Amino acid sequence: MDEHQVVWNEKVAEKIIKNLEKRRMAGSYTDSAAKAKDEILEMIPQGATVFRCGSMTAGGLGLWEAIAAIPGVNLIDPYQPELSREEGLELRRQGLTADVMVASTNAITLDGRLVNLDGMGNRVAAMAFGPKKVILVVGMNKVAPDLESAIARVKHYAAPINNIRYGLKNPCVETGLCSDCRTPQRICNMWSTIEGHMIENRIHVKLVGEFLGY
Ligand code: SF4
Repeated sequence: MDEHQVVWNEKVAEKIIKNLEKRRMAGSYTDSAAKAKDEILEMIPQGATVFRCGSMTAGGLGLWEAIAAIPGVNLIDPYQPELSREEGLELRRQGLTADVMVASTNAITLDGRLVNLDGMGNRVAAMAFGPKKVILVVGMNKVAPDLESAIARVKHYAAPINNIRYGLKNPCVETGLCSDCRTPQRICNMWSTIEGHMIENRIHVKLVGEFLGY
């Protein structure tokens, strides 16, 4: 990593963590994805049920395989390819009462707000309430200066790229830009802005000094 980028990451992460704490959320910073993976695994209690979300960031770190390999941990995984649609939906419902949710966020603002956009809503629902602990692993590339730029990042960058990733037949796959479609397979249906939480430190944001996910 470029030395100047390292300095920027550390300074900005420190500011965000302080702002998360003011919002009754926890934050920590790690300079590498490999270290972040180990630290997240240490945060998962013995015998926990863990809800898997469709996070490129967590997947890229190899977290799902590592979590599933922890003795006694039950990974609730709605993304198993052999599942029917109804089976996948049932696992998403089960995930809402898991002990731990591991995901990322589509954007995080300098003042510590978490901005997300979902197709079905199970991810933003579980982030808000349900799982006892929510661990979000977030590359510093997802930092946005303010709420307006966070929303723009999600709508015009993260959402089109995720459409391409899922191979969906939405207009943004052709143009790379959002045209606010109305297709049945639109993945942009539920916005969530988490401003804070009444259950202190239920949400822990692990910032990582690398470019991770979209
Ligand atoms: S609203 Fe439609 S066009 Fe815009 S990013 Fe979402 S799926 Fe793509």
